[in-house]
Amino acid sequence: MRVGYFAFGIICFSCSFYFLSHDCSRWLPNANPRSHIGSDVSKEDVYITVKTCAEFHQSRVPLILMTWWESLRQQVYFFTDEEDGRLRALLGDHLIATECGKSHAKFDLCCKFGHEFDYFLESGKKWWCHLDDDNYVNADVLLAVLREYDWNSPLYIGKRSRNFDQTHRFRGESVTYRFATGGAGICVTRKMGRLVSPWMMAGKFTETCRALGQPDDVTFGFIVTNRVKMNITTREEFNSHQQLLPELPTDTLLSQAILSYSNKTRRRRKNVIQIPEQFARFSVREDPSRLMSYHCWRYPDTDWCPARKM
Ligand code: UDP
Ligand code: MN
Repeated sequence: MRVGYFAFGIICFSCSFYFLSHDCSRWLPNANPRSHIGSDVSKEDVYITVKTCAEFHQSRVPLILMTWWESLRQQVYFFTDEEDGRLRALLGDHLIATECGKSHAKFDLCCKFGHEFDYFLESGKKWWCHLDDDNYVNADVLLAVLREYDWNSPLYIGKRSRNFDQTHRFRGESVTYRFATGGAGICVTRKMGRLVSPWMMAGKFTETCRALGQPDDVTFGFIVTNRVKMNITTREEFNSHQQLLPELPTDTLLSQAILSYSNKTRRRRKNVIQIPEQFARFSVREDPSRLMSYHCWRYPDTDWCPARKM
């Protein structure tokens, strides 16, 4: 330790001595360390995929397009199961009409998720974030979360909705694993992408799903936590409707990275976020998901936001 300080002192001394005539910066440790390990990540480094389907092209997708899409339009790609002229005109090559089956069957969902993954690998981006079409994204919060981490290490960020591990059979063996819920959003670094690709790339993901007998987010968790043996990095800012959304504290709503909604009731309440009365610009009937009201609370100057509650 002492030798280290001594050496450092000598370097500093020589640098100050020759300061005016020499460039000593290459001898010194970085004098201005980065405040965040991932500060070299901007939104251009994130590849965002939204899983959708023909059934929701005229309901959930327009809600995304009128709200959070504006802040991330260059980063977002929609993966669906049917060509759509209107969406194509708006989104161009940011709409991917896969050949995946149109059912809600788990292996059709896996087919789409596998495509999302392949496109991410192809994109060369540092991060991949997968979303469902009933998610709202706060671009700045999501980015701030990602910047807390080293994009150059293998990471799988999200939130679990079940606190117990899963045990299933996979190709004749009993396997135990855990997963982050796809509907809360999951983010993965390129390094992790490389590690999971033997079970995922070019159609292999659907095979892995079939062998495990589980849907896409569950199978992805299996690959990461059981095959690759890495853990989930849990973030409270990722929210799905597997949790009780009305219980999200009001004062934390604007600092959530990802929100969600559901038409179903849980514990006899609609499972949606609660917008404080004074900020709710739309009634529950006009805005059942609450996401229009949320967006207007966050961005009150948006042209379609009414000046006050109707
Ligand atoms: N989804 C799909 N094909 C279907 C039904 C749903 O791709 O046939 C997508 C949907 O667009 C959403 C996700 O799967 O992104 C989850 O669907 P949903 O929210 O309806 O169900 P959940 O699993 O959340 O209850
Ligand atoms: Mn959903």
